[in-house]
Amino acid sequence: MGRLIVVSNRVPPPEDKRASAGGLAVALQAALRERGGLWLGWSGETAASEADSERVKTRVEGNITFSLVDLTQRDIEEYYSGFANRALWPLLHYRLDLADFDRRDTSGYFRVNALFARILAAEVKPDDEIWVQDYHLIPLAAELRARGITNKIGFFLHIPWPPPDVFSAMPWHRRLLETFTAYDLVGFQIDYDAENFINCMVREGIGRETSRGTFRAGEREFRIAAFPIGIETDEFAKMAVEARETSLVHRMEESLENRKLIIGVDRLDYSKGIDQRMLAYERYLDNNPSSMGKVVYLQITPKSRSEVPEYADMQREIAETAGRINGAFSDLDWTPIRYINRTIRRTTLAGLYRMSDVGLVTPLRDGMNLVAKEYVAAQDPENPGVLVLSRFAGAARELDGAVLVNPYDLESTAGAIAGAISMPLDERISRWRGMFDRLRQYHVNNWCDTFLETLEKPLNVPAFGSQQPPLRKAS
Ligand code: UDP
Repeated sequence: MGRLIVVSNRVPPPEDKRASAGGLAVALQAALRERGGLWLGWSGETAASEADSERVKTRVEGNITFSLVDLTQRDIEEYYSGFANRALWPLLHYRLDLADFDRRDTSGYFRVNALFARILAAEVKPDDEIWVQDYHLIPLAAELRARGITNKIGFFLHIPWPPPDVFSAMPWHRRLLETFTAYDLVGFQIDYDAENFINCMVREGIGRETSRGTFRAGEREFRIAAFPIGIETDEFAKMAVEARETSLVHRMEESLENRKLIIGVDRLDYSKGIDQRMLAYERYLDNNPSSMGKVVYLQITPKSRSEVPEYADMQREIAETAGRINGAFSDLDWTPIRYINRTIRRTTLAGLYRMSDVGLVTPLRDGMNLVAKEYVAAQDPENPGVLVLSRFAGAARELDGAVLVNPYDLESTAGAIAGAISMPLDERISRWRGMFDRLRQYHVNNWCDTFLETLEKPLNVPAFGSQQPPLRKAS
């Protein structure tokens, strides 16, 4: 077996600065360590000139080489802030109203993909397998093939994929779809995304499904499948037990004075439905006067992508909503919403999840939503909290013990919050148990292995075995 090459927009920071790395970065590095490998991506730094972008910086940790590319200011604006974050991100989250389809950004996106391909093509050895991560790098395989690379190349999309009528609103939809045919395996979070993608390809006449999960486009045949990403369940559960006893989490507990705690944790992003969630909580307070002074909703929302104008507008709106609700409902000794606008370490979050009675995870659209899974992993088996989860999060296809809600329906979300707050212990335990078992069974390392095994399998061999537990019935 040759090396594994991972390509992603960003490369994880050096080991000593990686204190609370997420499960994905850890799992990918475990896979890289096992076979030796290379991780290529943007360094996060700005290059002074285009020539500087071609000079790759490397960092070696054991048998993994990290290759870091600096991008010029123009590349960052067009490829990253522009096409990736202002066209693809809203489009793939069904938000045509927020998408900005700019020709210059589009050519910047293809240009940076070509740059990565040029750098990589010079590195690839015959047996290497390449695994491309996420929406920033969709055309990478096509660029590599154009440079004569015939290695196996897989792609995994961490975010949703919309139906054809949404996707085709992008002027360059066909050009982008065609680039997918250069992969050997295209992976999505859940089956709905894979179905939407296949429908887009078929609608455009790019090819057809020859058997379940196998797609033919001209001379090329490749696989399309769902691989719901997992977390490091046992490790996270242990982290939660330890963090629960830290002074910070104890201080939080004392400050609650025996009130119930609802927690929401999301990057500041319009896909997360934070504003709607606050409105649903307001409705809950309105509908349940006896809850006044007895419940606190903690919303942790680190800022993200502040350079994108839509994010700055949203930040203002959410802060106003929180301020208005607090102004209307607070008492001298009680504030209904605690809204925190900065990053909290993942280890601390684990302790906060564990002490929360309700995990409120209500994105309008989300590829998976790891916070939902972390919340479940962090619970006390003898007294678990309740997960209230949007049916539009990928995690809803797996976590069948959650109370599912439609985040656009404020009244029923308010009802779900009330039901979760008062749910009896036996029901909480039985809902939680199944979800926790499932998360343990499908650890992020299994996710990684299953994807790579599927990539390696010849097309005439059935895709994956029984490692992947079945998804819940459509609801
Ligand atoms: N996270 C964190 N600190 C914060 C907020 C979030 O460490 O203040 C972590 C969280 O624990 C989770 C990840 O960021 O692992 C968010 O992943 P998710 O899939 O929920 O959302 P994304 O931000 O990737 O859209």
